[in-house]
Amino acid sequence: MNGLPLVVEELHAGYGKLQILYGVSVKAKPGELVAIVGPNGSGKSTLLKTIFGFTTVYRGRIILGGRDITKIPPSRKPYLGLAYVPQVDNIFARLTVEENLKLSRIVFRERYASSPSPQKDGASPDKLFEDMLEEIYNMFPVLRERRKQKAGTLSGGERQMLAIARALLMKPQVLLLDEPTAALAPKIAEEIFRKIREIADRGVTVLLVEQNARRALEIADRGYILVQGRVAYEGPSKE
Ligand code: ATP
Ligand code: MG
Repeated sequence: MNGLPLVVEELHAGYGKLQILYGVSVKAKPGELVAIVGPNGSGKSTLLKTIFGFTTVYRGRIILGGRDITKIPPSRKPYLGLAYVPQVDNIFARLTVEENLKLSRIVFRERYASSPSPQKDGASPDKLFEDMLEEIYNMFPVLRERRKQKAGTLSGGERQMLAIARALLMKPQVLLLDEPTAALAPKIAEEIFRKIREIADRGVTVLLVEQNARRALEIADRGYILVQGRVAYEGPSKE
C-alpha cells in the first residue's frame, strides 16, 4: 500500500445554490492520518462528498498527487486511487461478504493494468487480487469467518469493517472515511480505530471524519476542526 498527497485548496462548495463550505483548506501527506471533527451539520460529510465529487464546487481546487481532480466525476475517482466509505454504508445486503469484497476487483484490475511499474513477475491481476483478498482477511479475520454469510446479517461493526475492507481492495492511495465508528459499542469502535491507524501506518493517506473527536485526534497525526463550514482549528492532533 502506498499513499498520495491530498491538497484541498480554499474550497467553496455546496448543494446546488446552498453553500455549505466556505474556503476550506485541508492537507494530507502520504501515509498521514488526518482527523476532521466538528459539530453536527458543520460540513464534515460535505467535505468528503466534495472531495469525491458529489457536490457543486464554486471555487477552490482538489489536488490528488499533483493532479487537479476537482472536475473528475465520482465514478472515475477509484481508478485514480481515491476510495470513499460514506457515512451510510453501501453494502449489498443480499450478497455475501465475499461477493461484496469481490466487487472491488474491477477497479483493482484496471488500477493494476494502468500502473506504471506493475510488479508483473508473471502473476495475473486476478491472482494478485486473490493475494490481496487474503491479506485483507488476515487484517479482518471476522470477515473471513463470515465470508459466505449474507452481508445483511452482519453486525454494525462488521458492516463497517466490510465497507473499509472493500475500499482497501481497490488499492486506494487516499482513503476517505466518514464516521466509521458511529453507533458502535466502544470495544468494536476501538478495534476499528486501531485498524485505521494500521492502514495509515501501511502507507495509505487517510482522511477520517469522526464524531468521537477525542479518540480520533488521539490516533491521528493531525487534525482539523470544522465549524459552520470553515476550518476553526488545524494542527498537530495532540494539541
Ligand atoms: P454530522 O456530524 O451530523 O454527520 P456533518 O458535519 O457531516 O454533520 P453535513 O452532512 O456535511 O454535516 O451537513 C452540512 C449541512 O449541509 C447541513 O446543514 C445539512 O443539512 C446540509 N446538507 C447535507 N446534505 C445535503 C443535501 N444533499 N442537500 C442539501 N443540503 C444538505
Ligand atoms: Mg456527517
